Amino acid sequence: MTPINKILIVGAGFSGAVIARELADAGYAVTVIDSRDHVAGNCHTYRDDKTDIMVHKYGPHIFHTDNERVWQYITRFGEMMPYINRVKAVSGGQVYSLPINLHTINQFFGKTFTPSAAQSFIEEQADTSIDQPKTFEEQALRFVGKDLYQAFFKDYTIKQWGTEPSNLPASILKRLPVRFSYDDNYFNHKYQGMPKFGYSQIIVNILEHPIITLHLNSSFIKSMQTDYDHVIWSGPLDAYFDHSLGRLGYRTLDFKPFYGTGDMQGNAVINYCDNSEAFTRVTEHKHFSPWESHKKSICYTEYSRNCNAEDIPYYPIRLVDDKALLERYVDLAHKSNGVTFVGRLGTYRYLDMDVTIKEALETADALAEAFVSQQIPKVFYQYVI
Ligand SMILES: Cc1cc2nc3c(=O)[nH]c(=O)nc-3n(C[C@H](O)[C@H](O)[C@H](O)COP(=O)(O)OP(=O)(O)OC[C@H]3O[C@@H](n4cnc5c(N)ncnc54)[C@H](O)[C@@H]3O)c2cc1C
Repeated sequence: MTPINKILIVGAGFSGAVIARELADAGYAVTVIDSRDHVAGNCHTYRDDKTDIMVHKYGPHIFHTDNERVWQYITRFGEMMPYINRVKAVSGGQVYSLPINLHTINQFFGKTFTPSAAQSFIEEQADTSIDQPKTFEEQALRFVGKDLYQAFFKDYTIKQWGTEPSNLPASILKRLPVRFSYDDNYFNHKYQGMPKFGYSQIIVNILEHPIITLHLNSSFIKSMQTDYDHVIWSGPLDAYFDHSLGRLGYRTLDFKPFYGTGDMQGNAVINYCDNSEAFTRVTEHKHFSPWESHKKSICYTEYSRNCNAEDIPYYPIRLVDDKALLERYVDLAHKSNGVTFVGRLGTYRYLDMDVTIKEALETADALAEAFVSQQIPKVFYQYVI
């Protein structure tokens, strides 16, 4: 294999930026392009000019991890402020706390259960005839029973995924545990925080390196490939192949901003669980920076729908048809030369930021090793299907 000298990274999100930095630190000159006019991909944050509030442009992003290497990495490039994500949910005209915890259970059923009494009660609610839950609906019925499922999951899931929960895999629900204590911290990880100056500033800092060149407003075109020894692709997998086999399914989000003064909803994120509202949640961005003080406020109402060709892809759907198509794209990818697919779009998986960074660090290690030993770099460094 010819020595690798020129590397192109498509995408300046966490995947592209971390790999660029690691390869640059290892001595490789890297060019990073992004079709958008900003860095940080879907984690992009900006200061709203009417309120001066830091806004999460593509939806609320809370950093959380158990991984020491990842925590060291992110705090090397940006100051993380203490932040605990506490989510509220509106259902049947009342406000509850999520994930379902002892307070939610007691409020919903009008009880004063102790933890063990609540656990026994929920076990009675659970549908134990479901031995091995396969679908989202079965998983919910098996673990929380019909009443909590209908109040908190059913309509919300239909709004979020555009399909009945009986069509979705059980694995989706595993992200939302039930707690038999009053702990309403949404995440269980050891580290949780919010970047003091936003995610985009962290990415700017990561990319600040003498041998990294960044071009924004620059979309990949096939002819670029000949100018580089290797391409690292964090855009959509099917887009690399011009969607030649069809489009992988995604959900996209529409955000409708509205303004006010003071504290408009009292919390960063409130979910709307009933189908009486078409939106899934409302985010009040000032609550992500509790160390700042702002008189005005900006909120985003969030709507979910199927992603069309011109939309921004958010959540990979990964239902049976998508997985079959994914397999065909993975086959095609394995026949390609000079490219490595990374990140949430390149590997068509939902990835939290910490997992994205972890995988990017590991991929960069593996690529650097392949370049040094003049081995052909792999097309994927993660298990994708
Ligand atoms: C609504 C939502 C909320 C989330 N909340 C959280 C959270 O609270 N906590 C958490 O840890 N994670 C969260 N995530 C996950 C987080 O967004 C991802 O982990 C992260 O964005 C993945 O980074 P990436 O670099 O792989 O992809 P991206 O951020 O999507 O970056 C890919 C980049 O590639 C660029 N690109 C694509 N195609 C081309 C092309 N042809 N030419 C040039 N550039 C191109 C895109 O413009 C984009 O900037 C959330 C995700 C969503 C959708």
